Amino acid sequence: MTFSQALPKSLSPSRLQDFQACPRRYQYASVERLAQPASYAATKGRFVHHVFEKLLAENAAERDRDLALSFVPDAVEHVLTESVRRDLDLDAQGEARLVAEATSIIDTYFTMEDPCEVSHEGVELRLSATIEDTPLFGILDRLDRDSDGDLVIVDYKTGSLPNRDYDAKTFANTELYAALCEAKLGERPRRIRLMYVAKGETIERPVTEVLARARVATAVSAWSKIKGFYDDGAFPANPSRNTCRFCAYTATCRASGVSVPAS
Ligand code: SF4
Repeated sequence: MTFSQALPKSLSPSRLQDFQACPRRYQYASVERLAQPASYAATKGRFVHHVFEKLLAENAAERDRDLALSFVPDAVEHVLTESVRRDLDLDAQGEARLVAEATSIIDTYFTMEDPCEVSHEGVELRLSATIEDTPLFGILDRLDRDSDGDLVIVDYKTGSLPNRDYDAKTFANTELYAALCEAKLGERPRRIRLMYVAKGETIERPVTEVLARARVATAVSAWSKIKGFYDDGAFPANPSRNTCRFCAYTATCRASGVSVPAS
């Protein structure tokens, strides 16, 4: 098979995660660009991210709860689009529930930090760089400059906390962002802060050269395989109960002959 679509121009940390979980999922999402129906959890996450982006773009002294909530109607308009409402079968009651849950997350966020004290270099910061012939692209939720003058990558998480003994996977995406920052801005962030804004907890980890290099090596290796699979015209499927239950393409995948486990 030869793909009629061009190979994506770059690899983002989230697409890398797709590829690592299952190359066929990457094929569907990034090469064939098959639509993925919106999910409730992802929509709520986008909703909250939208409010935080607007809030943190305002003057530091004005970033209070009332200002944050004033962006809720904007989030309703831009995130709860017609197609999202259709995918979620969202009626007025469903919308009210989603807005209430998002508002609760926003309230929790204000218990975690005072946004008036946040000094940042950008929100929803788009970075791209080619490292070792691998074109990388990513959008950072926030890049802070802390009181010591160091850069800190801040990533909002609206889902559950990882297991107590969270492993390297939890930080893998953001460590690749750190390498992107270093390549693009000439400065490696000192730390990564994951803010679990639905739970009110933050976990942090320092960025080391070893870790940043390891993430780049993973991305370089994945990009090389992606190009190979693309040239071959097929990305292998990697079905497993864990991977497939979070996949939007189970029907397409089954129809292609893959034995997808029931969820
Ligand atoms: S259903 Fe499973 S095997 Fe198929 S693309 Fe999705 S994750 Fe891969």
